[in-house]
Amino acid sequence: MAGRPSDTEILEAVEAHAGRRGVAGRLTDPGAAALTWTILLDFRIVRSLETRGERPMREPGSRDDIANRPTYTVLDSHPVPPPDDPEQARSMLLVREGSLDEERCPDCDGGTNKCGPCRGRGVLDCPRFVDCPVCEAGPDACWECEGTGRPRSRKPPRPRAGTNAADRARPRAGTSAADRAARVRCARCRIDDVACPKCRGRRQLDCPDCRKSGQVECTACSGTKRVTHPECRGTGRFTVWTEGWIRHTPHRARERRPGRADLRRATGNTGDWHENVLCRTTDKLPDDLDESDEALIAPHLTPRKNEVARRATLRRLPLAQVRVHADPHRDYFAFPSRTGIEVVSRPTSERVRYFAAVATVSVVLVTLAAVLAVALLR
Ligand SMILES: [Zn+2]
Ligand SMILES: [Zn+2]
Ligand SMILES: [Zn+2]
Ligand SMILES: [Zn+2]
Ligand SMILES: [Zn+2]
Repeated sequence: MAGRPSDTEILEAVEAHAGRRGVAGRLTDPGAAALTWTILLDFRIVRSLETRGERPMREPGSRDDIANRPTYTVLDSHPVPPPDDPEQARSMLLVREGSLDEERCPDCDGGTNKCGPCRGRGVLDCPRFVDCPVCEAGPDACWECEGTGRPRSRKPPRPRAGTNAADRARPRAGTSAADRAARVRCARCRIDDVACPKCRGRRQLDCPDCRKSGQVECTACSGTKRVTHPECRGTGRFTVWTEGWIRHTPHRARERRPGRADLRRATGNTGDWHENVLCRTTDKLPDDLDESDEALIAPHLTPRKNEVARRATLRRLPLAQVRVHADPHRDYFAFPSRTGIEVVSRPTSERVRYFAAVATVSVVLVTLAAVLAVALLR
């Protein structure tokens, strides 16, 4: 791969790094170090796939804007340039040549219909009188005439079974003097202090909604007798056309071999990744690609049905792992960076496991000592 440092350059860079850690010796000497190369790989492809379709349209009113849309005759063969950037999602709306028309709404008369609730009268019937809410239009309307205008003194109401006629409209037991004081002169029998103060013995009140007229304005049409037809939004017509749509949608795929997790940040941030960009289906993968990598990526490059644009980006970073025999418990890694060769070192995985085991043993020993101490103190 172009830009890959030589083994000697790598060993010299690792030697300088190890030297700062106190490890002396020339790593380029035979047997001083062992070097193995791996290639980190990050492949992404975004392709723009095109879909097309047609549908009948019918929208209320005059749609002057539809006439400004581009037209087509045969949608499948209508030429559309591919997107400059395959990442870009876009959608085009077209009108089939000659399909644009306007038609009268068949379900209304110029956008309105006769109002249903009032049957086109503009008003609704309303009772002229309503029951008095205080005496509920009952015997309490007047203790003397019960709202009939004929006091019992002249014509007592007919007794009912189990009811004492004389007591029926009399103030009930427990009625306070204040209740009695609130009574007014009856408008029917004209006796003082016996009638309901709200209706004055009449049992009913003039209807507050229609003010006794017997009719109120229809709320559905506000008295206009007609209502807007919602389907055509009161326009009385529809615009009809055949719509064609063409959509470009990005589809993405990725393959990675990112290397050791603890090195990802270092290589990702400063690594001088070698990049190849393929924008045409005829563009070939670079010759120096490993066979296994090619087998991984090649299937992604097969053109898809309805693919109109693509951008494949292959990024690779050569990573050298160096074992320094004078420092067997550390792994050294080196890779090309934008400023030269970057070297990082980590304890070997065996070393990490060894210290983890030592730590576990220590915990066990401390616990045993504590148990023993407790036993001895008893
Ligand atoms: Zn209509
Ligand atoms: Zn009365
Ligand atoms: Zn009343
Ligand atoms: Zn009314
Ligand atoms: Zn109405």
